[in-house]
Amino acid sequence: MNVLKDRLAADDHPKKVNLAPGTYRCESGQPWILPCFRLAAERLLADRGYDHEYLGLLGHPKFLHYARELVLGPKVDTSTIASLQTVGGTGAVHMGALILKLFSDRPSTVFISDPTWVNHHDVFQHAGWRTESYRYYDSVNKSLDFGSFVQSLRTAPSRSIYVLHAVGHNPTGCDPSLEQWRALAQLFKEKDHFAFFDCAYQGFVSGNLEQDRQAVELFASHGIAMCVAQSLSKNAGMYGERLGALHVFCGTVSSTKLVKQQLKVLTRREISCAPKYGADLVSTVCSDPKLRAMWDSDLKHISGRIIAMRHGLFDRLVKLETPGDWSHIIRQRGMFAYSGLTPEQCNALVDDYHIYVPRTGRMMMAGLNEDNLDYVAEAIHRVVV
Ligand code: PMP
Repeated sequence: MNVLKDRLAADDHPKKVNLAPGTYRCESGQPWILPCFRLAAERLLADRGYDHEYLGLLGHPKFLHYARELVLGPKVDTSTIASLQTVGGTGAVHMGALILKLFSDRPSTVFISDPTWVNHHDVFQHAGWRTESYRYYDSVNKSLDFGSFVQSLRTAPSRSIYVLHAVGHNPTGCDPSLEQWRALAQLFKEKDHFAFFDCAYQGFVSGNLEQDRQAVELFASHGIAMCVAQSLSKNAGMYGERLGALHVFCGTVSSTKLVKQQLKVLTRREISCAPKYGADLVSTVCSDPKLRAMWDSDLKHISGRIIAMRHGLFDRLVKLETPGDWSHIIRQRGMFAYSGLTPEQCNALVDDYHIYVPRTGRMMMAGLNEDNLDYVAEAIHRVVV
């Protein structure tokens, strides 16, 4: 991946296209500062009383309040949830893996979808877990392999920990339907499995933060043992500010106190405390109805653009009569399309057309725009035929 990054940086071909990053790009191929967060930053800058003091060990209380409400909804009983601000979603996964390793008595293997975010196995193993993949993706139909997923949940030891992508599965773009989430929740209850939600793309699928948390809300409403590792890197468009939170469902008020205490101890040892600036920006946006409404419309813009690019590419491939069925491009959801291109075809796109796609075939759809769609579709056609 880094090799690809270096090659991209050194490539001055006028038509080069970057479909490799894990970060959103606007129409002109640049990073996009969401207007609501730009306004919030201007407000902070103008505030003469603003400071850059350290946060407390659990993090920014207002940020935690808003982040929790965003991902869990307003109905949950907050007195039994231990929330911790973390260094991005990565930090949230790490702290979740760590606290479970130290204080849970669950079986020692964590189950992770195949494929998954490149860092999942490493982060869990780093915290002392064994990890095992469960079959998630049907590479023939380029869709969710729900049957295999269910089979894995049925045959795994009771009380196992499963990592679930809450929405916008990375890298496949294949999420269970609401019906399927309901069936999964049932199985989690039956087998007393632990749902370790990783929620990194809330708002990127439907453009609606409420709708994109339906799996998390559903599991919470069933009282399933769970935690949520939340990233706000993507939906706030502030990747470098390392915005994240971990929410652990503790069941009782007294165990919540204990978990919070332990999270403080672990945080103190690892990072002392989480970063403040991005958390201030999120709090500023969420506490102002006008800015909050702007955030909603910014997310609609992002998801709408991604969907338009999916259709733009699909329509062109159909028109070109590129061999194969390309409907998965418009069926899959969120920022990534798992194209099904072979490693050789991806290499050819890079070598011959300056279109940067990793060998997995995962394409970041916001790397497309009206100016490069024709070029990319033509190039894919040529490497496929
Ligand atoms: N989980 C998933 C599924 C991700 O895709 C990512 C980012 N690529 C993360 C966690 C990490 O998020 P962050 O950048 O906020 O650390």
